[in-house]
Amino acid sequence: SIKGFHKGGCAIFEEGMKRRLSAEAQMANRMEYALENREFVVYLQPKVALRDGRMVGAEALVRWRRQDGSIIPPDEFIPFFERNGFVTRIDLYVLDRVLERMSVWKAAGKRLVPLSVNISRIHGDSPNQAEKILELTRRWGIEPAMIEFELTETALFQNAGRVRSLLEKLMEMGFGVSIDDFGAGYSSLNVLPSIPANILKLDKGFLQGRGFNERNRTLVRHMISMAVDLNFRVICEGVETAQDVEFLRAVGCDMAQGYYFARPMPIDEFEERWME
Ligand code: C2E
Ligand code: MG
Ligand code: MG
Ligand code: MG
Repeated sequence: SIKGFHKGGCAIFEEGMKRRLSAEAQMANRMEYALENREFVVYLQPKVALRDGRMVGAEALVRWRRQDGSIIPPDEFIPFFERNGFVTRIDLYVLDRVLERMSVWKAAGKRLVPLSVNISRIHGDSPNQAEKILELTRRWGIEPAMIEFELTETALFQNAGRVRSLLEKLMEMGFGVSIDDFGAGYSSLNVLPSIPANILKLDKGFLQGRGFNERNRTLVRHMISMAVDLNFRVICEGVETAQDVEFLRAVGCDMAQGYYFARPMPIDEFEERWME
């Protein structure tokens, strides 16, 4: 009967809810231990200049490697850690690992490229976060210009005042600031000129999902030319095919990142394959 169906639907919903809550309770129990025992590991994904194909940077992406060797992707724990506030600890830990490795490369005389770290909007809630980040960067002897922070467009407009002042401070200190998943949120184009960032990172949805048709190309072409005219550097993420690369190069996109060039990889592997 209809009634029975509804009951069943509800039971399935409750089942899913229970599973989620118990997964979250487990994560809450294990997070401190995991951080101390280096279960959070940093992967790097190269960014490539479309002009000449050179690697011009890389993005740090965190994974949770459990003791049994299984790897949990960030989408399964970052949203929960944004709700309980632990994400700020993870972000600073990722930054610390990135700076540590950069200082090793610097000492070895390697050519450094800027590395980017994703930051949650929660950082905007702590008044001295920019100073804390600068201090950490200095402690490793790395120039702020060698670090970029990526914050999503959605995050920027969820907590506008505080996040905006955090980003402005970081830029004043000399860090790069990039708006991630740009174009996937709901902000209208009139905010574009006043966005506190030097880089716009076009969301991977522009190249995927909706299909790569002519109207889509027109939209991307104009977004890029507008961003360039407003003095943003532009990177496109989710680049998977030679066709994507050819198109982006033709419309004046500065940089690209995606499986076409490389998947995110452990730092050691990045060092072996991508560092000179
Ligand atoms: P994001 O910053 O927008 O990162 C891009 C995501 O797209 C990454 O997923 C990356 O592995 C994936 N990707 C890269 N190239 C391609 C491609 O060609 N095709 C497709 N389909 N996907 C591609 P990942 O590593 O699972 O990270 C997911 C999200 O988790 C990130 O999105 C970011 O918002 C968040 N995240 C990751 N690491 C951190 C971190 O250390 N701190 C914070 N706060 N968030 C993080
Ligand atoms: Mg990112
Ligand atoms: Mg993104
Ligand atoms: Mg994303």
